[in-house]
Amino acid sequence: MARQTTKSTAKSGPARKAAKPALAKKSSAKKAIRRAKTGKAAKVKGPRKRAAADKKAAQAAIARWSQAEIHEAFSRFRAAMPEPRTELFHTSPFTLLVAVVLSAQATDAGVNKATPALFAAADTPEKMVQLSEARVRELVRTIGLYRNKAKNVIALSEKLIAEHGSKVPRTREALEELPGVGRKTANVVLNNAFGEPTIAVDTHLFRVGNRTGLAPGKTPLEVELKLLDAIPDEFKLHAHHWLILHGRYTCIARRPLCERCVIADLCRWPGKADLLLPSPVVN
Ligand code: SF4
Repeated sequence: MARQTTKSTAKSGPARKAAKPALAKKSSAKKAIRRAKTGKAAKVKGPRKRAAADKKAAQAAIARWSQAEIHEAFSRFRAAMPEPRTELFHTSPFTLLVAVVLSAQATDAGVNKATPALFAAADTPEKMVQLSEARVRELVRTIGLYRNKAKNVIALSEKLIAEHGSKVPRTREALEELPGVGRKTANVVLNNAFGEPTIAVDTHLFRVGNRTGLAPGKTPLEVELKLLDAIPDEFKLHAHHWLILHGRYTCIARRPLCERCVIADLCRWPGKADLLLPSPVVN
């Protein structure tokens, strides 16, 4: 692996251009993954510069990515994790729907501590209604906002029985009519349960979209629509998993792990400096 000892920052346009021919024939995905694994992908600046960089990103004052760079980034995500999955424990579309409703403003890990017992007791809308709101509340009491969530779980189960033959509907419109289900939850269910190429923008994905310059937006919907427009079809099914996991474990809010990031040389965030030559992305 050829390393560059002189610093090459995100602003070093000429260096970026000059590097292309030399690297063009090498496997950039494998190289980027290797660099990330050794913790040598990029250098992270100090807290003040990071804060300034996040401010700049929030103002969408970061250069946009080319289509070739977007393709390159998702090729690397795919090479690093070919089959990403939701981390929420579930056994069916119904249990997935309930798990996602319970996960609002809570962590997947926290939800996963409560749901095995809940789903052992009730894994269908009928069983959930039979279990009763009080018992559901008791089983999910470790999850934030559990009172309201328990109420929604029972109400959506009743609606599924009454209007959808106890099945989880496959359209966004029908899903969003269920109690406790908004656009993000509908997107997660459509993607994970039915294989629809949707992008569910949670707090992690919202941050990654803005911070990297990949899809800047003031609202989750704006980020979602920009990502849907920019991401090539071949990556759309898994794109939201890759980006959420990237935000959860690498592009962390307080201090992103740029030195271990597989897209460090493509990312536009001014809070990091590339240590290595840019990737061989050719437009
Ligand atoms: S995408 Fe990677 S390089 Fe960019 S800020 Fe996040 S962790 Fe750092």
